[in-house]
Amino acid sequence: MLSALRLLPVLALFGCASAAQPTRTAMSDATPPTGQPAELKIVLVIHGGAGVITREGLTPEIEAQYRAELTRALQTGYAAIQQGKPSLDAVEAAIRVMEDSPLFNAGKGAVLTHEGTAELDASIMDGATLRAGAVAGVKRIQNPIALARLVMEKSPHVMLTGDGAEAFATEQGVALVDPAYFILEKRRLQLKKMQDDEAAGGGHSSLGIEFQERGYSVPDERKWGTVGAVALDHDGHLAAGTSTGGMMNKRFGRVGDSPIIGAGTYADSLCGVSATGHGEFFIRAGVARDIAARMAYLHQSVGDAARDVVMGKLVQMHGDGGVIALDREGHAAMPFNTPGMYRGTIDADGHVTVGIFRE
Ligand code: ASP
Repeated sequence: MLSALRLLPVLALFGCASAAQPTRTAMSDATPPTGQPAELKIVLVIHGGAGVITREGLTPEIEAQYRAELTRALQTGYAAIQQGKPSLDAVEAAIRVMEDSPLFNAGKGAVLTHEGTAELDASIMDGATLRAGAVAGVKRIQNPIALARLVMEKSPHVMLTGDGAEAFATEQGVALVDPAYFILEKRRLQLKKMQDDEAAGGGHSSLGIEFQERGYSVPDERKWGTVGAVALDHDGHLAAGTSTGGMMNKRFGRVGDSPIIGAGTYADSLCGVSATGHGEFFIRAGVARDIAARMAYLHQSVGDAARDVVMGKLVQMHGDGGVIALDREGHAAMPFNTPGMYRGTIDADGHVTVGIFRE
């Protein structure tokens, strides 16, 4: 039987997903198997992007690959927590796994710009100190999340972009990789299809009314694979991070919400947040900071705050996507207003739960 202690984080998960998910998908994804110890404080929550992700659209083999990679990222981050390392280490470690995986739109496998290049964005924030670091538009950094952390720890700045970020990386001894490292054939084909459709005047289903009105196209499948993590360490400190290739066919120099502190990433002493979705909307809604502010000023729970922003404010704006959020007691929230979001949690006992669909 579930004790009250065990129920709390699970209810937070369900509460957040419930407005989007009348069914119990998130609940069942989050429900531990019988025989688990009573304590269920979540210490790490991750996402691998939100969008039109459906059972029909994923073969069982591909679905299994996603579940395995999400599990590997959770266990890698968890190992850092177990070793008594700070939550920043867990966030960086989990995100590195997903950046190195070709499955996600971050690092290797990033979506491509209009010109067919990969331009990567990432950010990280330390909730205990409010220090933050970010990089945007980098083309030769294998693990942008690690460079974002170096910006935070080794520079007086919060964000470095493009050539400046890469020059800083070199100064810090980070090896630059060939830009071709990031580019996968599947991404080239997706870009080509999108550009062919655009040229044929077919257009695309919109990710947001304004985006369409401005003449920018979006992927047909409306799938984002941005990655993010939020962790809680033994000292009760939270950290959050996000890494992405941005949006397919984006214009040269476009920067989304992922590297913007307060939009795609935020952490303070109350909660940590990482977002995924249509960045232009997440920037305008100030998503990550809004969730933290609601908790601080309105004394909302992490579940209520995340739900109100994702299912309320963003839906009204036509901003598609979702967030992961974690409070200092280990309650996680993972609301999304899209059909699916790759996501997972690991609790203090190392019990992993992974979810993809809304069922
Ligand atoms: N939020 C990212 C961006 O707009 C995309 C994503 O989440 O996949 O750049």
